[in-house]
Amino acid sequence: MNAPPSLYKPTFRTATDLLVVHCSATRPTHDIGVKEITHWHVQRGFDTVGYHYVIRRNGTVETGRPETAVGAHVKGHNSRSIGICVAGGLDAGGKPANTFTAAQFAALGQLLDDLRKLYPDARILGHRDLSPDRNGDGVISPDEFIKACPSFDVAAWLSGRELAG
Ligand SMILES: [Zn+2]
Repeated sequence: MNAPPSLYKPTFRTATDLLVVHCSATRPTHDIGVKEITHWHVQRGFDTVGYHYVIRRNGTVETGRPETAVGAHVKGHNSRSIGICVAGGLDAGGKPANTFTAAQFAALGQLLDDLRKLYPDARILGHRDLSPDRNGDGVISPDEFIKACPSFDVAAWLSGRELAG
């Protein structure tokens, strides 16, 4: 049986304020990319993959949704953001952990540098940094994280590298 034609028809963003880093919440040995994530997201009822980019374990950057399309990756912010998913984020036992490869961090850095040239005012953050600030103190603390995604501190990583542009 042939696969049904994709139902996906992009709608396009009018603003891009956020570059949101995600992980796939998969184990280090799980070599996945856009194809596998598209399958999961379609099973969950999305028209196609929710992210704009996926970075494989070997650092290869794959394109998901068109970069200018509205994604489906972070509730309440999809109309203003680009979603980047780094494959991994669990340890061998299935617990959230920074198990990303050096090639993935290099690719993520390059991709963010490129995107910042196109969207100079966009803020870069991790999915968990968009969790609700439940106690209203202005700081999203770990107990307020909806989930661990992307399993590393994006702000701390960014401060340790020189962002171009
Ligand atoms: Zn996420």
